[in-house]
Amino acid sequence: MAEPTLLNVSNLEAWYGESHVLHGVNFNVRRGEVVTLIGRNGAGKTTTLRSLIGVVGKRTGASTYQGTDLLKVPAHKVARLGIGYVPEERGIFSKLNVIENLMFPPAWQSGGMSVDEIYTLFPNLKGRDSTPGTRLSGGEQQMLAIGRILRTGADFILLDEPTEGIAPVIIEEIGAALRILKDRGMTIILVEQNLRFAASVADRHFVLDQGKVVDEISNSALDANMDRLNRYLGV
Ligand code: ATP
Repeated sequence: MAEPTLLNVSNLEAWYGESHVLHGVNFNVRRGEVVTLIGRNGAGKTTTLRSLIGVVGKRTGASTYQGTDLLKVPAHKVARLGIGYVPEERGIFSKLNVIENLMFPPAWQSGGMSVDEIYTLFPNLKGRDSTPGTRLSGGEQQMLAIGRILRTGADFILLDEPTEGIAPVIIEEIGAALRILKDRGMTIILVEQNLRFAASVADRHFVLDQGKVVDEISNSALDANMDRLNRYLGV
């Protein structure tokens, strides 16, 4: 039986100042699902994530998460709902070491991962407690950024291009970690341009183009729809 809907985004529009960027985004996410937002550069994927957590200018429409319209929740209160955001630039504090970065955000929810559990998920971080953020590779920083969010107790994770600029072997490790998180019941929205990676973790894909969701493709139908998808992506 299909899981209940955890998030329903309906006619979401968003602006940066005068610039109208999202023109009515519609999609939904079921509990325990991994969905991707895919589309060419500038399609509005990052802005969609940022709209959900309240860090754009004006927003209209609705984004219903467990009965709460996220568009009415100020950005500083979103994490308390169990929603974790990992930005594309990762946001690792360069002057803080691994353990300090992990411990930085408050544990908003009970049931967050312990540091040991995070090291089991991402063995590359193990034994690196005192390593400053700047000494980590891009992939290790990505692992740290995800680990930090898991420690807060978030069980709904918004991940913006975790594979961007990362070595293939580390991409595999991040994919394996996301599959473990899914098995543990977490729900994930993944912004991704790497289709192979997206296909290895996701249940459904939503295609964004010019600030709208223009298509939905189940992961099992991805291969059969590759020509259509490549047209959207301009490949
Ligand atoms: P990318 O893969 O390049 O990150 P994206 O699909 O995530 O693309 P967004 O970053 O959401 O796209 O950008 C959507 C549109 O909004 C683009 O036209 C972009 O130039 C514009 N935009 C993004 N950030 C800002 C900002 N801070 N101020 C004004 N316009 C912005």
